[in-house]
This record gives sequence, C-alpha cells and structure tokens, in this order.
Amino acid sequence: MHLVQLDVPTRKKEQFIDITAQVARLVKETGFKNGFITLFVPHTTAAVTINESADPAVVEDIISVLHRLIPQHGEYHHHEGNSAAHIKSSLVGCSQELLLKDGVLLLGTWQGIFFCEFDGPRTRKLLVGIAPC
Ligand code: ZN
Repeated sequence: MHLVQLDVPTRKKEQFIDITAQVARLVKETGFKNGFITLFVPHTTAAVTINESADPAVVEDIISVLHRLIPQHGEYHHHEGNSAAHIKSSLVGCSQELLLKDGVLLLGTWQGIFFCEFDGPRTRKLLVGIAPC
C-alpha cells in the first residue's frame, strides 16, 4: 500500500472543503491504474464525506442541517466545549473508500470528496492509502 498525507488548512469553524482534485492528483502520482483508495481523517472533530460538488449549496445545506440537529451549546458532558463537533464527526464519519479503474477515480458525475471541518480553523491531516490490485 502507498500511504500519503494531505495537509488541509481550514479557514472557518465549520467548512466542507472540496479535495477531489488533490486526491485525484495523489492517486495519479502513484502510477497505479487499478486499486482501492482509503481516505482516513485522524481527528475527532473532523470528517470526510462524498456528495454533490456541482452546486455548493448542497454542502451548505448539510452544514446548516447538522448545525440545527446538533446545537453548539447544549447539555453536553465533555469539558472542552466542543461536543457538537465530536458528534458531527462521528455522524459523518472519519473514512471513505474509493475505487480506481484504468487510472480513473470512479466517482459519480456530480460527486466530489469533501473534508469536513467542525471545529476550525486549523491545519488538518487526511491520510490517503492507495492499494493497487
Ligand atoms: Zn473535545
């Protein structure tokens, strides 16, 4: 397996960053034509998801709904004051799997890969594991 780290600087408290082109470039650099790609976020207040990248309003809606479902302040026990971010991270998830065929990432026409920040801004990491087959 080929393993690389992508640094993802975030600029807002909550933000979805389209990383599709960066992931595609990393995959291309390996020279692998077919394989499995695992994206893993090694953080407890961030996540990674795949959704529509054509209309930026889609990810704005996701952020907005998560914000309504999981308020910033509530009856949480965690002492750091960022429980909402931890909960959103678990709901969205810290990993995604992609398929590579004939040198192309098999994403749907409207799909993009988004790094999801829930407690920024910070410089985050995304681990990209690429296993040829
Ligand atoms: Zn915390």
